[in-house]
Amino acid sequence: MIADPFVQLRLLDLQAVDTALAQLAHRRRNLPELAVIADCDQRAAGVRSQLVDAETTLADLAADQRRMEADVDTVRSRARKDQQRMAASGVPAKEISSLEHEVASLARRQGTLEDELLELMETRETAESEVADLKGRLEAVAGERAIAATARDEVFEELDDAEKKRHADRDRLVGTLPSDLVALYDRVRESSGGVGAAMLRQRRCEGCRLELAGSELSEVRAAKPDQVLRCENCRRILVRSHESGL
Ligand SMILES: [Zn+2]
Repeated sequence: MIADPFVQLRLLDLQAVDTALAQLAHRRRNLPELAVIADCDQRAAGVRSQLVDAETTLADLAADQRRMEADVDTVRSRARKDQQRMAASGVPAKEISSLEHEVASLARRQGTLEDELLELMETRETAESEVADLKGRLEAVAGERAIAATARDEVFEELDDAEKKRHADRDRLVGTLPSDLVALYDRVRESSGGVGAAMLRQRRCEGCRLELAGSELSEVRAAKPDQVLRCENCRRILVRSHESGL
């Protein structure tokens, strides 16, 4: 391929733009805020699952409490009925004795139920405070995430602007270069880790850092200025300049 030496040098400007674009993309991918956000999401998922468990426990306790309160009511109303029956006239002595026995037994049962109820209400308070604690933790994580997301969006905006400028630079440069040269450069760049064109400086390819010697050096020295050269080692387009040391 043939290209004017000045055109070949502009390929290095295009490479500089592409390298800058790659650095911007790298920065976008490796933003510390992205790790913070991922960490927040992971922690929030953990807390949310704990919260589901805690809320289930709390709902179960509330149901237990309602059932126990209903049991207490039943026992109380039964005892009240017994007492009313005992107070009525003409109740046989044998029945009175049996009722007295039942009332005493109901009182014991009520006492036990009330103790259990008290214990359950304490457990429920603990469960309630755990739910509140988990909700608080969830909010804190959400706040942390929001701060990171805002910071991320700000940097993304900066990166968007920088990329837009670089793309405009690229378009401008590409417009001044022969399309077959750009096509070759793009192809090499894609297969060579983002570097398609490298300067030959002091007989060294700046793409692979290898110094030209022997027949390769002779060939490069003998090549016409407008000949587009490739590094024999890394296959990148080798651009000569007054610093090439030939
Ligand atoms: Zn090379």
